[in-house]
Amino acid sequence: MRGYRQKLKKNGFKLTPGREAIIAFFSGKNHYATPETVWKEVRKSLPRLGLPTVYRNLEQMRKINILTQVDGAENRFYFGLCRAKNPGEHHHHISCQKCRRVSEVENCYLQSLTKEIKEKTGFQITGHKLQLTGVCKDCR
Ligand SMILES: [Zn+2]
Ligand SMILES: [Zn+2]
Ligand SMILES: [Zn+2]
Repeated sequence: MRGYRQKLKKNGFKLTPGREAIIAFFSGKNHYATPETVWKEVRKSLPRLGLPTVYRNLEQMRKINILTQVDGAENRFYFGLCRAKNPGEHHHHISCQKCRRVSEVENCYLQSLTKEIKEKTGFQITGHKLQLTGVCKDCR
């Protein structure tokens, strides 16, 4: 929890009970969840925490790379904990459809593809998103 506290502080946020509970929720099972699921769980220990606050906290912590957004089934969006050594560095995530574990893909393999697309389209490419979905080793 100490690392997260420092990270929040560096970005001008405090480790409030709400944020702490959210981080603890994700730390436990290594899975991703919808904001509603997080809220229902966290509310058990913090009954006064509202869903809008949970949304806001999730979004804030995503911006500072404590969390990552995972696009799941049915176009729902989920959050998961980013466990990269250097979370601020460009990287990707892979998630398990069965246990909802989120794993880090610390390298980007799209550099040469980006170059090729740039040549073909004439676009200056400023960014990309890549999220891999599959079934993890334990669930296979
Ligand atoms: Zn990550
Ligand atoms: Zn799995
Ligand atoms: Zn990349």
